[in-house]
Amino acid sequence: MSDEEKNTNDEKEVLNFNEVEPGEYEGNDIKKTSGESTEMTASDGKNDGSDGSGDTGGSGSNSSGGSGYEEICFVCRRPESKAGKMFRLPNKISICEDCMQRLMDQAAQFDYNGLLNNPDLLKELNRHGMPNISFVNMGDIASGIPNSQRIKKRKEKKEGEKPVFDIKKLPAPHKIKAQLDDYVIGQEHAKKVISVAVYNHYKRIGCDTSDGIEIDKSNILMIGPTGSGKTYLVKTLAKLLDVPLAIADATSLTEAGYIGDDIESCVSKLLAAADNDIDRTEQGIIFIDEIDKIARKKDVHSRDVSGESVQQGLLKMLEGSEVEVPVGAGSKNMMVPLAKVNTKNILFICGGAFPDLDEIIKNRLKKQTSIGFAADLKDKYDKDKNLQKQVKVEDLKKYGLIPEFLGRLPVICPFESLSRDMLVEILKEPKNAILKQYQKLLLLDEVDLVFDDGALEAIAEKAMERETGARALRAIVEEFMLDIMYEIPKDDNIGRVTITREYIEGTGAPVIEVRA
Ligand code: ADP
Repeated sequence: MSDEEKNTNDEKEVLNFNEVEPGEYEGNDIKKTSGESTEMTASDGKNDGSDGSGDTGGSGSNSSGGSGYEEICFVCRRPESKAGKMFRLPNKISICEDCMQRLMDQAAQFDYNGLLNNPDLLKELNRHGMPNISFVNMGDIASGIPNSQRIKKRKEKKEGEKPVFDIKKLPAPHKIKAQLDDYVIGQEHAKKVISVAVYNHYKRIGCDTSDGIEIDKSNILMIGPTGSGKTYLVKTLAKLLDVPLAIADATSLTEAGYIGDDIESCVSKLLAAADNDIDRTEQGIIFIDEIDKIARKKDVHSRDVSGESVQQGLLKMLEGSEVEVPVGAGSKNMMVPLAKVNTKNILFICGGAFPDLDEIIKNRLKKQTSIGFAADLKDKYDKDKNLQKQVKVEDLKKYGLIPEFLGRLPVICPFESLSRDMLVEILKEPKNAILKQYQKLLLLDEVDLVFDDGALEAIAEKAMERETGARALRAIVEEFMLDIMYEIPKDDNIGRVTITREYIEGTGAPVIEVRA
């Protein structure tokens, strides 16, 4: 009878365990709860040994709490924000209330009576621990959760605390554009549109909504030929604003459940770019490239899992919704903790080349002006390289973007195709211009590198032939610089190299001047 009483007492104590604040259960406290039960003393002996090593790790456990990362339940792997308060055990182990309850229930069903009634076994246990069982140091396993899978703690917003983006400090659109000018050549209209859209977007985030007026989101759709600077502009913008940026490829996205990336993977990438800091993620930029590839396909009789369904799937996210994303991994699975991210304040920028859009715009324009005095010549638009500037929502609808999707991308931003002069400027003007990079390289060998104007024009002309925009420039320059970079370091007397048009066109050699 007395043993039974003891057992029920143990059970009571075990259940009370849950009511104790986390943090109290460290070291001695656990010993106290396990009380007189001798089998725990046996394992305590082991624990004491491991505690020594665990102490160094123990500070890690505290630091993981203090480092701004959320605790993750050792058993079910849910983060603190989902599973609620955690019990912190020694050796970096945190266990959520649910799992702790389950473990305790299981422990309560253990046959202590059988054990306690066997004095020989108890003696043996006291002396050597559990026969044939070696204890795993759980801390070793727990410490294996990498920080990339931990979620940064949400900062609790105190009253009067400043938002991350201070409206007063936000640069005005003309200043944003002036900064962009240092990097991005041409595309004046696009830079203007983007500066205003971004300015409004971040003003909207910091804006007080207590008067009931909520400013709508201004997601952006960029349309322009490949290599015209769409991605580059977004990257530059994110750098200037110091916000995290995720670049996703629409072609790899598929409807949930099919092979390919889930739509939420974009947010997951942004979370990684923001170092798992949810607050920063919620104010970042997601750039979805190749958006033209998810246009509705014509004459498709099977299920279109990578086209229209992706557009449908993106709708909620573009508008603003709570998305559950895996932390530190591309896809959801049992072992990866999930985080909730609200996309309300994330700026979505979609970009695409829309190769056949010209034809659609041309047909519309021709239809408008084919009758009467205003009639145009039939081939008026045929040679216009910048027809995309005249794009309208109806053209994009015809292209295969669904109206709901277009409705959530209110800012349309066409990019020009780059002219020869613009390519020349891209070669030499931006802060990180290709020529500047090579000049710096050769300067390390104390050699001056000069490109004459003819050479720059010849490079630009070659790039235009390739029809890949500014992307071709680096490849071409690299091609011609190879010989020079191979030969120059051979001779210490060379002081200056001038690249000429003839060298680029293959009819001459670069001019080499010897040091005075
Ligand atoms: P896309 O329009 O296809 O996204 P990118 O933005 O990736 O093209 O451009 C490719 C590269 O060409 C960039 O990394 C950048 O160095 C250069 N580039 C393109 N357009 C410009 C531009 N307008 N000004 C300066 N550099 C540019």
